Amino acid sequence: MVWPNGRICPACGYKHSIAVAGRDKGAYRARPGLYQCSNGDCHFQFTVTTRTPLHATKLRLSVWLKAMWLILQSDKGLSSVRLAEALGVSQPTAWRMGHALRLMVSRDHKMGGTVEIDHFYFGAQPKKHPEDPSPGRGRKGRKKTRKTAVLAMVQRPEDTVRGTPAGDARAAVVPGLVLS
Ligand SMILES: [Zn+2]
Repeated sequence: MVWPNGRICPACGYKHSIAVAGRDKGAYRARPGLYQCSNGDCHFQFTVTTRTPLHATKLRLSVWLKAMWLILQSDKGLSSVRLAEALGVSQPTAWRMGHALRLMVSRDHKMGGTVEIDHFYFGAQPKKHPEDPSPGRGRKGRKKTRKTAVLAMVQRPEDTVRGTPAGDARAAVVPGLVLS
């Protein structure tokens, strides 16, 4: 995802780089996933997290991936206290992780071109609860759904030829969405 069209140097944008992982560099051994820019004026050394919010993290990437999954699958967001519990890290660490991940998904991802937007209902009807009021009836006497209302935006792909990357998409649960 960081390099959808092949590895590029984050310092100069050069498209050629070499893996230095595993090579003996004198006194130390280069860590896995380390690359060096092949541009003679640059020679910048980088990993997949360089110049992203995950740069210089002391946590394993698997902990970050677990955090991403936990945040994405929670409807109403996840408190840093609960994230900390689930990951086995301290609450301040969990708070910083949540902040970094939100920063990462929000930047450089503005949608453009033709964007389609629509709503849909997702999942099953929630279980009946005796204290809940009746959902009543909607248009044409149909029973109103109590499924989760979701708003989705999809950017039209540049082409319809097979193999064209799919358009960027966003979806969010809309609490209290009312449709006439
Ligand atoms: Zn470079």
